[in-house]
Amino acid sequence: MLNLIFFGPPGVGKGTQASKAAKHYNLIHVSTGDILREEIRLETELGIKVKDVIASGELVPDKYLIELLENTCEKHKGAQGFVFDGFPRTLRQAEALEEMMERTNCKVAKVISLEVPAEELVRRLVNRAIEQGRTDDTADVIKNRLVVYQKHTEPLIDFYKKRDVFVVIPGEGTIDDIFAAICNVIDNRY
Ligand code: AMP
Repeated sequence: MLNLIFFGPPGVGKGTQASKAAKHYNLIHVSTGDILREEIRLETELGIKVKDVIASGELVPDKYLIELLENTCEKHKGAQGFVFDGFPRTLRQAEALEEMMERTNCKVAKVISLEVPAEELVRRLVNRAIEQGRTDDTADVIKNRLVVYQKHTEPLIDFYKKRDVFVVIPGEGTIDDIFAAICNVIDNRY
């Protein structure tokens, strides 16, 4: 099994690269943001509960994410592996993922952290909001999402560095060049 985490702040290009990696390595792409947006669109019980939280740029409570993760992995039991995109975002989520992996004798092979300068992030998020009509990406919400990232998600860097799986890839350049750098890390992981 090959399990990968695509890590980094909102706007860094995780989704694009995670989706390419899932196709290339035949893995299941798990974007918690996409799953939650679909729940909102379908007006499910969960969707209704999380709508306002997502619109504000805050994080959805861990218990919903952990349940969602367990259901998703259960649904794809025979998969060759997973590409997690936007998950985990808190220490509690990272611990839950680790426990789940241990239960099935698996582990996270690499945490691929994409990095770009802060001004570039804001520029990308503003453009994406316009292009995709993402109502969670207004200027104030964008700022809040970045603050929330620093506060809750950045501590995961140490968590994964300790496990010796954390790799930084510069997130600027063409999509294909960045992807080539990512493949290089994944292919030479042993
Ligand atoms: P994303 O598309 O990954 O930027 O996620 C959009 C929004 O969904 C985030 O701002 C959060 O409100 C929520 N969300 C997605 N993934 C998570 C997660 N792992 N933990 C908590 N909230 C999440």
